[in-house]
Amino acid sequence: MTARPAQVAVLGATGSIGRSTLEVIAALPQRFEVYGLSAHSQWQLLLQLAQGCQPRCLVLSGASHGWQPPEAVPPWSGNPGRWLRGAEALVELASDPQVDIVVAAIVGRAGLESTLAAAEAGKRIGLANKESLVVAGSLVTAACQRGGAELLPVDSEHSAIFQALRGASAGAEVRRVILTASGGGLRNTPLEQLASVTVEQALRHPTWEMGPKITIDSATMMNKALEVIEAAWLFGLRADQIEVVVHPQSIVHSMVEFCDGSVLAQLSPPDMRLPIQYALTFPERLACPAPSIDWTRPLTLNWEPADRQRYPALELGFEVVRRGGSCGAVLNAANEAAVALFLEHKIGFQDITAVCRAVLEAHTYDPSPGLVDLMNADGWARRQVSKWAGVTI
Ligand code: NDP
Ligand code: MG
Repeated sequence: MTARPAQVAVLGATGSIGRSTLEVIAALPQRFEVYGLSAHSQWQLLLQLAQGCQPRCLVLSGASHGWQPPEAVPPWSGNPGRWLRGAEALVELASDPQVDIVVAAIVGRAGLESTLAAAEAGKRIGLANKESLVVAGSLVTAACQRGGAELLPVDSEHSAIFQALRGASAGAEVRRVILTASGGGLRNTPLEQLASVTVEQALRHPTWEMGPKITIDSATMMNKALEVIEAAWLFGLRADQIEVVVHPQSIVHSMVEFCDGSVLAQLSPPDMRLPIQYALTFPERLACPAPSIDWTRPLTLNWEPADRQRYPALELGFEVVRRGGSCGAVLNAANEAAVALFLEHKIGFQDITAVCRAVLEAHTYDPSPGLVDLMNADGWARRQVSKWAGVTI
């Protein structure tokens, strides 16, 4: 008897990771079926994606701007399902007893509650939404333990480390992990020009095609700061066990250095379908639609230290790992608010990191916050950014 395909809920299906996840699932129809999809604002795209995979449940978590989704039955035949509305519906889908795997691909803090719900409900979680761990790493890991959930990284660097460790946690054998960073779209921009970088320039990424928030985070290297925090939670690492190097080709996705000095790396062309698929199929490996390296062609791999003057955001990630408590929630919220203001042309590129540092330094530190404390810290940090920038929210 063949097992039924695993039922997958894709939260943030209309985004870059969400759409890549649907491609991976479409290529493995015997193994996976889409049970539910969520979108926040792009309901037309949600309907289009749903035509292809015919899920049982569709969630629109944000406003529909006047459009009324049908009450019960999605507009395709033969597969009765339901529409759910609002942010709470994400929690409902993430904890639906029919769902085996939740791909957490919502951007930002908005993904936290559904990640927590999937963790409590004991799902396999393919985690792209790194912000969940940055904001509330201790709550997410505790919920996974309580619920018996598996937390598998989708982020390419963390997937590389996970693959090098073959799913084990970083024990005494691991000396450190080395996270690689592309350096973002402004790696070669002269330092004195960074202050006047435009939104359009910062949105150009040399190796990855991603949503706008993470693309700006890559340019400031706040993305790597968030990934330092994510690595600490996923693999139980101290700040002094995490290194960051700039590797412009984005072929080596990260490395683990063991106590004997041996280093294991994971290599593949930059394509998120590989880490997404590995999170779905682990511990198995299956053929994947992502391309593999062409070894008949010359390949040069470069490394350089991450320049702290060019990327001051990086240090904030290490600081958050050292201090813990409420720091992650404050840094994440300040960054989300600052990136949104930059994208609206209301603050400059270098202001993003400057305001994050100022807000982190000004906040009242709480060493062991609960969810409500974290949400309060988040709201406070966002208000501070607005005040700093002189805008009202
Ligand atoms: P996108 O901006 O492309 O997509 C974001 C998704 O989240 C969309 O489906 C969007 O819905 C939904 N969304 C936005 N706001 C909300 C909200 N308030 N509540 C619920 N849903 C919301 O982002 P990416 O796919 O690039 O990134 C998603 C996550 O994956 C991020 O945490 C990012 O850091 C992480 N990640 C991304 C990588 C990449 O290659 N893109 C690589 C590694 C990690 P709608 O479109 O309908 O508005
Ligand atoms: Mg990454």
